[in-house]
Amino acid sequence: MDFDFSPEEDAFRARVQSFLDAHLPSEFDARDPDFLKQWNRALGEAGWLGFAWPKEAGGGGATIIEQFILKEEMSARRAPPLGSDFMGLTWVGPALIEHGSDEQKQQFLPELLAGESCWCTGYSEPGAGSDLASLSTRAERDGDDYVVNGQKIWTTLAHVAKYIFMLVRTESSSRYGGITCVLIPMDSPGIEIQPIPNLSGEVSFNQVFFKDVRVPVASRLGKEGEGWRVVVGALANERSGISEATEKLRHIEDLEELARKVMRGGRPAVEDPEVRRKLASFRTRIAAMRLTGMRHLTNQLQGRRPSSETSINKLLRGQLEIEMDAFAMGLLGTQAQTQGRWQYLSLSYHGTVIGGGTPNIQRNIIAERILGLPKD
Ligand SMILES: Cc1cc2nc3c(=O)[nH]c(=O)nc-3n(C[C@H](O)[C@H](O)[C@H](O)COP(=O)(O)OP(=O)(O)OC[C@H]3O[C@@H](n4cnc5c(N)ncnc54)[C@H](O)[C@@H]3O)c2cc1C
Repeated sequence: MDFDFSPEEDAFRARVQSFLDAHLPSEFDARDPDFLKQWNRALGEAGWLGFAWPKEAGGGGATIIEQFILKEEMSARRAPPLGSDFMGLTWVGPALIEHGSDEQKQQFLPELLAGESCWCTGYSEPGAGSDLASLSTRAERDGDDYVVNGQKIWTTLAHVAKYIFMLVRTESSSRYGGITCVLIPMDSPGIEIQPIPNLSGEVSFNQVFFKDVRVPVASRLGKEGEGWRVVVGALANERSGISEATEKLRHIEDLEELARKVMRGGRPAVEDPEVRRKLASFRTRIAAMRLTGMRHLTNQLQGRRPSSETSINKLLRGQLEIEMDAFAMGLLGTQAQTQGRWQYLSLSYHGTVIGGGTPNIQRNIIAERILGLPKD
């Protein structure tokens, strides 16, 4: 593993910095839809959505290292992440590039690259979460269509998404081989969406019901019965996206700032050796996450597919977030009641830890697929 950037990569970093100087206001509201629309358009025009996708797919053909630099610089300025269509860009697009027909690529990729689509992901069901292969939403063939019946749950952004990237059961006798991936417009007749408010009162996920929803067979991604293959790659991409260490660097900076402001025994909390030790341990773990992320990048540069290794950072990040937030709440003491931001984070991280697969499932993956330990 080489930790140095080449002169070309340093020049690219400077280019990104100039773009940010020109397009990112010094103050902005990352939840303002008008600002996000404008920001997405600027990123799309600069060719930075799907920047590392192959040129034939309409992407920038950039190296994965350039993509990493782009994300690092964006995060350093606290810019909203690359595009608001996080799922579309992180796993639906790459899955389309790998498994999609020419028609599907032409239909979906340009919209994605222009920052104009929004995807949601339909894996989980009331009886199928960690054990995803138990899913039972059925798709039965009827002429040139599938007819879909069943229910998905915890579907993030289903209430605003244009399309769903979804797993259905096309055959019941084979657990893995009976699963197929389909791409469905969310305004298809027969789809009903019921939002589920989360712990902090916001709506981010939903229940989605499918009643006799007709889906053209041409909307299937990959072959019938090969949905599991599609989803394994998509999940590795999801976990790698979730695990970005750069974002955690902003989180620790905020925590350090808090420790400078909060007083303990008449002195800033940051002067307490216990507090300093804790902050240093968080920084060390973030540095370890960054190095693990670099190893994942190196693998990709050497042409290997996203692997189970992405589960390491997914696990580390979840534990770190909960601990950092609990530490912030401890520093604030009774003031925590009035510090909306930290309180909000403490309510939302529990969900982030579960989304994309629970910590136990990441431990199982690391034990079985990386360490080669037996299943029982
Ligand atoms: C914020 C958030 C966003 C989400 N977004 C989406 C989305 O967009 N699309 C989507 O399809 N799903 C989404 N999910 C669902 C998520 O993928 C599931 O919640 C997750 O996979 C766990 O499934 P479950 O809730 O059914 O829990 P279960 O699978 O029932 O797990 C319950 C508990 O049992 C443990 N457990 C289960 N099996 C094992 C095992 N083999 N070994 C050890 N322990 C085990 C788990 O770790 C957990 O602690 C989201 C969830 C959250 C919280």
